[in-house]
Amino acid sequence: PNRKVLLGLIGSGIQRSLTPAMQEQEAAHHGMRLHYQLIDLDLSGGSAEDLPLLLKAARMMGYAGLNITYPCKQAVIPHLDELSDEARAMGAVNTVVIRDGRLIGHNTDGSGWARGFTRALPDADLRCAVLLGAGGAGAAIAHAALRLGVQSLRILDVDPARAQALAAELNRLYDGERASGWTDVAAALDGATGLIHATPTGMDKLPGLPLPAELVRADLWVSEVVYFPLETALLRLARERGCRISDGGGMAVGQAVGAFELFTGVTPDAGRIEQHFRAL
Ligand code: NAD
Repeated sequence: PNRKVLLGLIGSGIQRSLTPAMQEQEAAHHGMRLHYQLIDLDLSGGSAEDLPLLLKAARMMGYAGLNITYPCKQAVIPHLDELSDEARAMGAVNTVVIRDGRLIGHNTDGSGWARGFTRALPDADLRCAVLLGAGGAGAAIAHAALRLGVQSLRILDVDPARAQALAAELNRLYDGERASGWTDVAAALDGATGLIHATPTGMDKLPGLPLPAELVRADLWVSEVVYFPLETALLRLARERGCRISDGGGMAVGQAVGAFELFTGVTPDAGRIEQHFRAL
């Protein structure tokens, strides 16, 4: 009761992050005093090279944990004492728990996506999903999609080598040779049951559609990662076509739900966090 919890987010260009608000408000409902500090490398002129200093400081100042985002999710790994299986498989950490002076790396991005996705589309047909974008978000989602039971995952990226490398890595880790790299989006969508969008296209600063409009068919479910704005051009089009959709808010909320539980040991009310997020 009346526990005090210090948390932070290390990354670049994070001033619009909604995570502080989500974590602080949920904590208040549990009678905790939680302060969530933005540690923005852009504002301090810092870089990933400052991670050892920042991690040491957080430990010395009694932080319970840190979220980690661009450009530090891989760079943080050598500085940690332990990794969860999921973070190790993904080769990326978005949540560091500090316990008894030890730094333990987790990844709640993939499980957060899965949480949002299953909440929005509980009975989605998982036979064949097309994943656009094999960067940080795309890779986390790809792992989670295979863990969730997607039978075939067709991966595309403007950098085809990136899609191929991710598919090879997934096939090394998960059974069934279910992942493959593709270059032609029309061919990949032929026979697919769903589309997962994980490129930055459609963000406020990068408006537009990530694929030709005519490829968005009514029988596809569409899962979006972009959440500034929540209603992207892709989701608007998918909605018009009659597709079932899951927006980028689901993943943003899902990663926060997972992180809250890891940081505090308390199970948060996911529905309440989601409601709060959508009101922000
Ligand atoms: P990233 O730069 O690591 O990866 C993006 C990838 O998309 C790159 O590999 C790039 O080559 C590829 N790409 C770009 N345009 C493409 C196109 N038209 N077709 C195919 N591939 C294309 O970026 P990221 O960190 O993965 O972030 C991607 C988006 O996801 C951003 O908008 C980010 O804000 C969002 N995101 C959302 C959440 C959430 O919680 N909802 C979490 C993480 C990231």
